[in-house]
Amino acid sequence: MNNTIVWTIAGSDCTGGAGIQADIKTLHNLGVKACTVITAVTAQNSSGVLEINSVSAEVLSSQLNALSAELPASVIKIGLLTNVQQVEQIAERLTFYKGNWPQAPIVVYDPVAIASCGDHLTEEDILVAIKTKLLPLVDVLTPNNNELQKLSGVYAFSWQCLARAGQVLLDLGVGSVAIKGGHIDIAAGYCVDYCTDGEHNYWLASKRINHSNNHGTGCTYASAVSACLAQGFLLRDAVSIAKAYINQGLSHQSLIKKARQKIENGAVWQGGW
Ligand code: PLP
Repeated sequence: MNNTIVWTIAGSDCTGGAGIQADIKTLHNLGVKACTVITAVTAQNSSGVLEINSVSAEVLSSQLNALSAELPASVIKIGLLTNVQQVEQIAERLTFYKGNWPQAPIVVYDPVAIASCGDHLTEEDILVAIKTKLLPLVDVLTPNNNELQKLSGVYAFSWQCLARAGQVLLDLGVGSVAIKGGHIDIAAGYCVDYCTDGEHNYWLASKRINHSNNHGTGCTYASAVSACLAQGFLLRDAVSIAKAYINQGLSHQSLIKKARQKIENGAVWQGGW
């Protein structure tokens, strides 16, 4: 672990799979110190999101004050913001940090809107504030296909769609867009991510690992990108490492699942100790 600090501004997921909990694990595993600013405490399980308790403006402020006084970040990763007030408050803070800290933080935003179970996590009217106030301050945006559609109006089902959606987001003021391919089906058997900063465009393809539980993969991906950027990797390398990190986790889980099935089907250990 080095002294590099990343803040995660996000919601708590009591299952431990997504949100702040996924962020801390990923940031720690990839070698940076994680500081946390909690925006909401969610109560959820596999049947859905039961409750979302957004923290007040005062509570959000005091967490940010405490951290900025002692532990300024080289990367600020943002996940769940639940309402317009939180979006405006974070946008104001980012403007201040970018203009006043000796080293402007890199801002990575994972535009979380809907939990993996399909339940909404944000208030309905939040979109305009995100587009007009937050996106112009974002250096790296990491949408999945549903989030892409909400923000750009384009649902990606072809290479051309991806390029068009990326351009719409750049036009809204985002520095770079890293679109996650988990929900995008443009190359049979492959999961293709697309990155663009307007000047460089690149695709990252890996064999699709089919998995029934993707809960937390978006948070984990954005945190992995943040950890790499904080350690000085270029974005193109950060997104490659993040993809490898996610794939490793998914294949590990499917190996465990296969092993469990074998045991349930009566497999026995061969050989002795
Ligand atoms: N943040 C919180 C607090 C959540 O509960 C969730 C999903 O349930 C997410 C973010 C998004 O998770 P994912 O990484 O699956 O997109």
